[in-house]
Amino acid sequence: MKILVINCGSSSLKYQLIDMANEDALAKGLVERIGIEGSILTQKANGEKFVIEEPMKDHKDAIKLVLSALVNKKHGVIKDMSEIAAVGHRVVHGGEKYANSVLIDDEVMKSIEDCIKLAPLHNPPNIIGINACKALMPNTPMVAVFDTAFHQTIPEYAYIYAIPYELYKKYGIRKYGFHGTSHRYVSKVAADMMGKDISDLKIITCHLGNGASLCAVDGGKSVETSMGFTPLEGVAMGTRSGSIDPAIITYLMQELNLSIEEVNNLMNKKSGVYGISGVSSDFRDIEKAAAEGNHRAQLSLDVFHYKIKRYIGSYAAVMGGVDCVVFTAGLGENDPSSRSKICKGLEFLGINIDEKKNNEGRGFAKVISTDDSKVKVFVIPTDEELMIARDTEEIIKA
Ligand code: ADP
Repeated sequence: MKILVINCGSSSLKYQLIDMANEDALAKGLVERIGIEGSILTQKANGEKFVIEEPMKDHKDAIKLVLSALVNKKHGVIKDMSEIAAVGHRVVHGGEKYANSVLIDDEVMKSIEDCIKLAPLHNPPNIIGINACKALMPNTPMVAVFDTAFHQTIPEYAYIYAIPYELYKKYGIRKYGFHGTSHRYVSKVAADMMGKDISDLKIITCHLGNGASLCAVDGGKSVETSMGFTPLEGVAMGTRSGSIDPAIITYLMQELNLSIEEVNNLMNKKSGVYGISGVSSDFRDIEKAAAEGNHRAQLSLDVFHYKIKRYIGSYAAVMGGVDCVVFTAGLGENDPSSRSKICKGLEFLGINIDEKKNNEGRGFAKVISTDDSKVKVFVIPTDEELMIARDTEEIIKA
């Protein structure tokens, strides 16, 4: 069975066609600049790159082009669109309604629309992507896989903020958590690598990319995560502040006369390691500057590592122990020095890194803890697309 996975952003769209027989990605592609000048589709398949530069006025045009790239006589991977058994869509916010992936029907569409107020930047392009696919492939089943779903098992006392309870009831203000598909995927791979049933394990997953979040996975269920009502809460990130004293916001608005939009922009786009270092949001640039003696660059890294370490410690407390720690996403997978610094000082928990293993190779799942480390530490490349495809297959088979 071949499944098309779509991850739709406001002006870009990522896709993969996955053959579920062996879980191979037959084609991977990216469409950029949808609706703006210079629209371009880049597809990688059979070890070669295929580029289409053509105006795309909207997402329907973009998906039309994706389908034509997939069936292209020379560069395509299927003969006919009918080979696509189903489409799995990444949807950022499923609110409290969806703890699992779901077959898309009118009611589901309505619920995703209802969640726009919770994810005003993300759910609208997801909806546009689903509608565009439905228009072009009206008879193909579609499944929605939510970033928030995995975290719906977080207990009430952990997701409720200590603000007036009516605000939760009336406006849905609570912790939702994000990156759920990634945390679910890597925790499962970690259990497989340990040769144990996930229901017997306490796992801390660290998804460290431009956006970063940690998750405490107890017995296969998310019981705590660092992102909250929005993806702004938690650890410091590339350009996001993560958790700060909430009074800073009102103080800034008052003292600097900042508008809601300005303060929002400051916290989301101008903070994090970028804000502290003044160098970049990309850890590679910051590490280079730090190595050249830039104090603020070094400080931003120290802050980032320290905050993650604090979360790891607190998640061990939340679960009453930890059996393994997983690093994933851009930085988690590729930056041995960050992994090492985050874990330094956690030996008392039984976390011991083997620096040789930590520094050896990349692009594959590996153990980086010492043989006698009580807690196993893994680097596991995340694969949200595969997880979406697996859910999609399972749902349409049922
Ligand atoms: P996104 O959240 O956009 O999906 P990614 O998971 O792709 O992010 O992670 C991107 C980030 O990973 C980059 O900003 C960069 O800081 C970091 N990164 C990637 N490769 C390396 C590396 N070799 N060393 C340090 N950081 C890296």
